[in-house]
Amino acid sequence: MNRKYLYGPVSSRRLGRSLGVNIMPHKTCSLDCIYCECGKTTNLTLERKEYTPTAEIINELAAYLKEKPQLDYITFSGSGEPTMHSGIGEIISFLKENFPQYKVAVLTNSTLLNDPQVREDIKNADLIVPSLDGVSKEVFHKIDRPHENVSIEEIVSGIRKLKEISSGDIWLEIFIVPGVNDTPEELKLFKEILEKINVTKVQLNSLDRPGIVDWLKPADKEHLKKIAAYLGNVEIVN
Ligand code: SF4
Repeated sequence: MNRKYLYGPVSSRRLGRSLGVNIMPHKTCSLDCIYCECGKTTNLTLERKEYTPTAEIINELAAYLKEKPQLDYITFSGSGEPTMHSGIGEIISFLKENFPQYKVAVLTNSTLLNDPQVREDIKNADLIVPSLDGVSKEVFHKIDRPHENVSIEEIVSGIRKLKEISSGDIWLEIFIVPGVNDTPEELKLFKEILEKINVTKVQLNSLDRPGIVDWLKPADKEHLKKIAAYLGNVEIVN
């Protein structure tokens, strides 16, 4: 079978055997994160539209899943922000109606979560993993280099509202950049926010493969453990 949108299944540290679904054109994203494994964002945008034909994605999924593969998750991720695709809700509904035996996960950079339609589209996923790499504007901008219309206040508000309506788990991911978002001041802000949004779980991640800027280094394990102990209810994934 010729695959355009599906990749894997890959063995994921967090998700087990996960079939990846990449519904966005390469590096079309609302952020240009310094740690992105897919390279620099070439189309920095916040526009939500049908970037790739929804029907084609559904057909590819249907053809693959009818063979009854063994999977722990079908995961929307890849080299762009999946919630910018206006068909994601239709694809998730299709999976839930036709292949309810499979769990669906959405990895998102959180920038569109303040849009009620986006929350509605993904609320039935079994797992949503939103990222939040900074709470202060300065730190958020240094790590995630957002589109000019992205606001950190809207991101936090979006995650909180998603938590209220989501039927699945929400694991918030924080990518620790030593010397940038691990200062006492920033960690205090994270702690305050985490108490307010009350997600299922928080995960700390750190550099695994080379990022985009050369000054980026992985966080030391012991240091990650101290951050996890300070924030509470936190798991280290890397
Ligand atoms: S949000 Fe994801 S795809 Fe976009 S730049 Fe950041 S890491 Fe890369």
